[in-house]
Order: sequence, then structure tokens, then C-alpha cells
Amino acid sequence: MQSTPIKHIVIVGGGTAGWMAAAASANRLPKAFCKITLIESDSIGTVGVGESTIPHIRQFNQTLGIDEATFIKATNATVKLGIKFDNWGEIGQSYFHPFGEYGEITKGIEFHHYWLKEQALGKCSSIADYSIAATSGLNGKFPVSTQAKQTQFSDYNYSYHIDATSYARFLRKYSETRGVVRIEGKVSNAHKHQNGFLRSVELENGQTIEADFFIDCSGFRALLIEKQMHSKFIDWSEWLLTDSAVAVQCERNIPLHPYTIASAQSAGWQWQIPLQHRMGNGYAYSAKHINDQQATDQLMSSLTGKATSEPRIIRYKPGRRECSWVKNCLSIGLSSGFLEPLESTSIYLIQQGISKFLELLPNKDCAQPIIDEYNQALSHSYEVIRNFIILHFHLNQRSDSEFWRYCQNMCIPEELKNRLDLFAESGRTDISQFGVWPAVCIGQNLRPKYYDSRLDTFGNDEILQYMQQTKSKISHALANMPSAEEFIADRLKIAQEAKVSI
Ligand code: FAD
Repeated sequence: MQSTPIKHIVIVGGGTAGWMAAAASANRLPKAFCKITLIESDSIGTVGVGESTIPHIRQFNQTLGIDEATFIKATNATVKLGIKFDNWGEIGQSYFHPFGEYGEITKGIEFHHYWLKEQALGKCSSIADYSIAATSGLNGKFPVSTQAKQTQFSDYNYSYHIDATSYARFLRKYSETRGVVRIEGKVSNAHKHQNGFLRSVELENGQTIEADFFIDCSGFRALLIEKQMHSKFIDWSEWLLTDSAVAVQCERNIPLHPYTIASAQSAGWQWQIPLQHRMGNGYAYSAKHINDQQATDQLMSSLTGKATSEPRIIRYKPGRRECSWVKNCLSIGLSSGFLEPLESTSIYLIQQGISKFLELLPNKDCAQPIIDEYNQALSHSYEVIRNFIILHFHLNQRSDSEFWRYCQNMCIPEELKNRLDLFAESGRTDISQFGVWPAVCIGQNLRPKYYDSRLDTFGNDEILQYMQQTKSKISHALANMPSAEEFIADRLKIAQEAKVSI
């Protein structure tokens, strides 16, 4: 049967989600095949936060053919090797959650079992000593990938801290160069066909724009997916207590740290995200446990430089849309759900949504099995990340506030409980569940009872020697590494010389 392809996509919203969707669609769909229009309202503006990412963003950039040096220059980016968590286990404790694995690739047994066995043999090194990302990060250095390969630690990874506004601007230029049409205006209404499919959106000035498919990137307003398509919001605030954030920017007067800092506070946690030209700061808190003024005072008193913006309060509700996609309306970004930025996963979810949509690219009729496939995939991703974030809160041993006591004692989702029990007993993890359990669990003092017994087939000396060698290789690699600051300066120089156009 002849298919009827989508000939016109309208994207409502020009934040990170809108411009990522526009750029990826323009890259994938030839202009002559499908027209793309993006409508955004300067007077409404964007949420203006969302500056810490995970390594998948590099894949996104590569797919779009974006050169790294150009990207770093355009977005004032710095590199990120992981997150340093302060005060999440007990007050005063710190751990580093690195991107990538610990140690070298081992014989089918996850590295943390080697570390557990080493502990059982009476050694007491930190597991971070066996991660190239953690050691270099904590020393302000950056492993350039060729160096890491030479020392066999090729399985570390990295991402970026970016200026969200510059990133959207950069992607806008990329998209417009590839034929995306931008309309400035406020969407005030939408019209439907008899079958409930969206037909057009209407702007405040009376202009209507018809399309075959609509992507709702209107942020928390969820203009189309909620107000027109009535997809329900599933609320997760019983497990994720923070519902507000205060954000402020300040001068960066300290050396560049190639990691995000997430420090637990009495009613939530605080982030510190270094960019080339400034520091992004925020406190995500539960308004039931602390008021806005107290949260703002706490944040402002901990800035490492002079504030360069006014503190801004943002309210949110954790959860996701029951259906991110309904008929010919797909929601991407904050309109489809929100999980607090503890592990910087929102931009990753945007990316997942866009690539899944482009992979499934429907015809005009948007067949239900395609929609179901998308909705199931996205729900699963949201739930895996939700559990992962709950894990951080639940595994605290703090007794200093009601907020932390609640998190310790709350009933957690069944599948998370089962996985935690498995880890506590045997150290077993499941890579498909984000593959990060050991860093967070061990970092927050959950030590498995047993290490993998297959390690007993090796002699104790053999294990100890292997661990020692791993540590020495990392120290050796560290000695020859540039600082994160030097790496960025080098990339800026390349961008300056190359003057690559996007
Ligand atoms: P927005 O940025 O809000 O954009 C919405 C767009 O819709 C705007 O262009 C607006 O003008 C437009 N719009 C709205 N209504 C209309 C209308 N009627 N007509 C026309 N246009 C309209 N994510 C991360 O990955 N890492 C982080 O570190 C991180 N930190 C965060 C911290 C906080 C406190 C919050 C709340 C979120 C954070 N996020 C983070 C999430 C991240 O900010 C978002 O995923 C990302 O910015 C995408 O937002 P968006 O494009 O969906 O919405």
C-alpha cells in the first residue's frame, strides 16, 4: 500500500528540547521531503537551566556532524568526567561517580568485585583510585582519549557542562542553515480534525499554522500534550521530594573542576556547574521542608564568586506523561516529564525521545503500534532513571533532618528494592539498568556481603598485584595529562584557527 509521509512538522517551543528536535530532524529529513517549522516565544523565554550533561550528548553531536571544538567555543562548554557527591552517605563523606568503568576490562567479572576482594584482604584504598575518570577529575586533569587508550583505559567517558541558552542558539543556527523555519509568536490555541488529530496551531496574532505532525516542546506548560491531547501526568513526588529550585549564576573564581558537584543539604541538594565564563549554581529543595528564603540564603552563602544574576525560583513536579505521544502529537523535554537533575539526565531523555521518533518515523496516520512502541520505550527509560535517582536519596545515613529521615525510611518501588537487595547480598548489577550501581551504592556505604566467588580461583597475591598495577598505571597516566583548563584552551584555539561553520 502507498504510504502517506509526513510533509510538515511543527515544533512548539525553542528551548533545548525544541532546538534539539529541530536540528536532529533537519539532519535526518531532507528539506524537500519534509518541512520543519519551529514556533517560539521570546516573551515567554526558556527555563534557562539544564547545563550538566551525560556522555550521550557527544553521540548526538557526532550524528549531527558537529565538530567538538566548535561546539565547546559556541556553548562556553567545559568537560565533565562525572559527579562529585558530597554529604550523601553521612555528613562529611564524599564520593565520585565517574563516567565509564573502574579499572581495566576484566575477565567477565565487574571490577568492583576485585575491589571488594582487596578490601577483604585488608587493604583500604578508595574505589575511585581505580577509575581514570575519577582520579583525573579530582585532580583537575583531563584524559585526552589517545592517552587513555595508550594506557588501556579506553573505557572512561566524558561529557560537557554547557550554557543552555548558547546551546539552543547554536542549534538554532544549525537548524536554520538546514532549512528549519522559525516563527516568533505565542501559541494561543489549537484546532483538530474530526478524528482528534491536531490540524493546526493558532498564534496570538491570529495566524494559523497547519501541519501533519506536532512536537510539543513547550516546557512545563505542556501546551499540546496536556491541554489539547489530555495525556495525564503520573506524579512521583512520593519518592522524589524536591519540588522547587533556586538558581543563580556567579563568577568562576576557582580553577576549573571537570565534574559537577552535587552536595546534599538539609532539604535537598545543591549543584555547582563550572562553565568557561561563569559558575551555575542551584539548590533543589522540598518546599515542605524549607522555605524559599531559607533555600535562597543557603545558596547565596555558598557561592564561590560574586553573583552575576538574580536568584530565580523554579517550581516543578517529578513524574512523566502517561503517554508522551498521542495521535499526531509527540511531547519532548519538560512537557513529557521531569526528573530532578541529580544525574543530569533530562537532556539525555530529550535525545532518546528524538532518536526513537526518527527511528520509528510514522506516516501521516501515526499507526498505533508505532505510538505504543515509542511510549513503552520512553516510559521504561523514565522509570529506570527515576529508580536510579531515588537510590541516591534512599541510601543516605543522615539523621539531621526530617527530609533525609523520610527518604531513608520511604517505601521504594518494588523493582528498585529487588535490585538493591541483590546488590547488598552479592554485588551483582545489571548494566542495562544504567550500569552505575556500584559507584553510587559503594559511595553511599552499601557494601555487598560477598564478592564474586570466581575470584577465589585466583591467588590472593595475583589479585593484589593486579590492583597495584592498575593503580600505578593510572598514576602514570595522570602525570602526563593536561589540566581540564588546558584542554579547553586547546580546543578554543583549534576552533579559532579552523573557523568551522556549522
Ligand atoms: P523550556 O526550556 O522551558 O522551553 C520551552 C519553550 O517553549 C520556550 O522556547 C518557550 O518560549 C516556548 N513556549 C512555551 N509556551 C509557548 C507558547 N504559548 N507559544 C510559543 N512558545 C511557547 N537537564 C539536564 O540535562 N541537566 C541539568 O543539569 C538540568 N538541570 C535542571 C535544573 C532545573 C532546576 C530544572 C527545572 C531542569 C533542569 N534540567 C536539566 C532539565 C532541562 O532544563 C530541560 O530538560 C531542558 O532545558 C529542556 O527544556 P524544554 O526545552 O523542554 O523547555
